Parts: sequence; C-alpha cells; structure tokens
Amino acid sequence: MTGIAPARPHKEAARITKMLDMVLGVDRFDRAPVDVATLAMEYSANVAPEGPIHRVEEADITGCVGALVCSPQAPRQWAIMYNRGQSDGRRAFTIGHEFGHFVLHRGLIESDPNYELAIYCDEEAVVQRGGTGIEAEADTFAADLLMPLHDFRAHLPPKTQPDFGMLSKLAQRYGVSLTAAILRWLEYTETRAMLVVSNEGFAHWAKSSKPAFRSGRFLRTRNEVYELPGVATAVTRSFSDEARAGISQDSGIWFPEPVIEMCLRSDRYDQELTLLHFERRQAWNDDEEPVVDAFDRFTTG
Ligand SMILES: [Zn+2]
Repeated sequence: MTGIAPARPHKEAARITKMLDMVLGVDRFDRAPVDVATLAMEYSANVAPEGPIHRVEEADITGCVGALVCSPQAPRQWAIMYNRGQSDGRRAFTIGHEFGHFVLHRGLIESDPNYELAIYCDEEAVVQRGGTGIEAEADTFAADLLMPLHDFRAHLPPKTQPDFGMLSKLAQRYGVSLTAAILRWLEYTETRAMLVVSNEGFAHWAKSSKPAFRSGRFLRTRNEVYELPGVATAVTRSFSDEARAGISQDSGIWFPEPVIEMCLRSDRYDQELTLLHFERRQAWNDDEEPVVDAFDRFTTG
C-alpha cells in the first residue's frame, strides 16, 4: 500500500466484520474462516436486492485470477468468477477481492462504458502488496474482511518475531495463503522484517515492514533484477528444518547488518519465501521518511 490507505474499503469491510462478529461471535475464527462466497451472495442480496451477486463460480479465465461480471439485461445480476487451479487460500482472497469490487465499484463498472459491465483482474491486480486505484481498494477490502486486524494482532502481537510455523497457523485460521498472512502481518508489525519471494536465486518481489523500510531495509525489484546473496538458503537450496526455523547471516550478506533468515520452499508455486528479521532498534519516528524513489515506498512489487 502506498501512502495513506483509502478510507472507504476499510469502512465497508469494518461494517461487514462488525456484523459477522455480532451474528457469529467475536471468537468465530476459532471455528472457521470467513465463508466469503456465501457471504458475498447473502450480503449483496441484502444491500442490493435489485442487482445481487447470484453466482460465485470457477471459470476458465486464463490470464486472470478473478472477475466480476454483470448481466447486460435487467434485472441486473452479478457473478464472481475465479480461475481454475487456485489453492483454497488464494481462491478465498480472489473472491474477497471481487466482492470488494462489488461493494466499492459496482456503480462505476455499471456506468462507465470503459468497463463493459465487467472487471477482469490478473495476478498483478490481486496481490495485496501495493497495487493502485481500485485494485488496491479491492485488495484492502479483502485483507480487512478475511483477516481483521484486531483478531490478527491478538494472535500475533506487533512486537513478536514470528516464524513460518506461527504464520502458517494464522494463514489456516483465516483460510488464506501463507503469503497473504505474511503481508497482513507486515502491515502492522513494529519489528523490522522483510519478505522476499524468489525463484532461481532472483527476487520476484519483496516487501518490508514499515520500521524496516524506514531504516533503509528494502529491495528494489520493480525495474531492477535483484540477485539474492550466494549464501542465501534460497540460492544454496539447502532447505531444511533449520533453515526454516532461522539461521544467522552475517553483516554484509543481505545488508550491512546481521539478519535472521528463514527460508521456505514452495514446490507448488516453484518459488522460495525468505523472511528476514532484523535486530530491534529504537522506535522510529513516524514522521521520518527516508529519501527514496516514490515507487519503492513500502513495496517493491
Ligand atoms: Zn480487481
């Protein structure tokens, strides 16, 4: 997310979260994640009976991960589609993202001829890590809805340095992918940490926590090729329980300071997740911003 997060996605997601807490109890995540497909249909039938979401279904939309489409004739009916082959966790986020477009942008999609009554979202749009405009709004909505911050923080306090085990448990709690849970945690943690997603020794993208970013710990990956350090686990491919739990890397390997490196290989996506934990430092002044290119703010998607 760049700059100030948009207020309306937060507000709309909070409204629904409050309703779910009331109906299902504040301990609802102890039992199950948000059933986002059912929620999208029931909620839309309530708030927009003249044009609800009547279907949430798998479809062949190669090149896209999800879509929100509207019938051309009256009465209006909407459908959320998700592309085949997504894991349960990714699918939940995709549906949450499209539900976000319905809640926030259906008026625009209906009235602006540029949309032709549909919005198709590709992998880049559904990323939860620094998209722009209405795509970022839909991501914010989905993250808030599926992983409410008050619940997330209660289970992973902002000063804790989690390992993959803790983060995986939270991913399960919210029915999202491990990556989605890590990105959520990076939004509020007070620790200096960074996630690097790589393949064949090169970073696809990286995201830093705010305290890490403010101390200059970020990677540029958008217009540059970032090659991981030769001794990084993702490069040596010495994947082990020890590497997953965290190994020390000396100053000068990743950054001019030592880090704890945790690495996990995902065969399904043919990529490595590397979590870097930096040492604690004094509190960073919120007003203090490092001098960097605008595109690199908090994310280097
Ligand atoms: Zn989208």
